[in-house]
Amino acid sequence: MAQVAISNVAKAFGTVKVLHGVSVDIADGQFVVLVGPSGCGKSTLLRMVAGLETVSGGTIAIGDRVVNHLPPAKRDIAMVFQNYALYPHKTVEQNMAFALKLRKTDPAVVAERVKRAADILDLNPYLKRYPRQLSGGQRQRVAMGRAIVRNPQVFLFDEPLSNLDAKLRVQMRTEIKELHQRLKTTTIYVTHDQIEAMTMADKIVVMRDGRIEQVGAPLELFDRPANLFVAGFIGSPS
Ligand code: ADP
Ligand code: MG
Repeated sequence: MAQVAISNVAKAFGTVKVLHGVSVDIADGQFVVLVGPSGCGKSTLLRMVAGLETVSGGTIAIGDRVVNHLPPAKRDIAMVFQNYALYPHKTVEQNMAFALKLRKTDPAVVAERVKRAADILDLNPYLKRYPRQLSGGQRQRVAMGRAIVRNPQVFLFDEPLSNLDAKLRVQMRTEIKELHQRLKTTTIYVTHDQIEAMTMADKIVVMRDGRIEQVGAPLELFDRPANLFVAGFIGSPS
């Protein structure tokens, strides 16, 4: 059974249709990358999985529940954004603990989860610092820590590396993959960067103008692109 099943999902903003019925199955533990040019509908689709946008048609299921009408807090997902969205007046530790405290989690559990996330992400030296005292890469690690402490069934990433410089992007790609290998959390990762898609994905979903052009493993898309758009986008020489 697919851990996340996106079935014929459509989205319109007013009269403007931006997704025309897309279907993607994401297996338990899989790392799926949605890739495509800016404006093709990647963030909209991810935000619908998160519950941050309403669904105009079709269904989204997480585990065995259709979640179309569930609020974000009840979906068992955690999302990491491009701009980190950290609380500026909270320390690293407080940023990571905040979502759990809101849910009235037992303080001992909060402390243990924050410690585990800090260990995994090498954040222990920075726990008492504020976001403004951190580098871009460290901030992004805190944003990931905030997602990890919630032990979600699904991680959603929306272009988490696009604010980082090229060298750090490469390093963080590796870190996110290592994190996935360690936690095996089902992941949907959005990017417009084909190299990120090729190096990180178990499965790539190539989108264009609110439609899916091709779904496949990185090498499959590289070796057998379905059309010229995919070939051009993935950078296949054929
Ligand atoms: P991507 O993440 O692939 O760059 P988006 O999902 O952000 O694309 O946007 C897809 C299309 O939907 C774009 O044409 C964008 O302008 C439009 N769009 C996104 N959000 C809204 C909104 N809240 N209202 C109207 N149009 C929107
Ligand atoms: Mg986007």
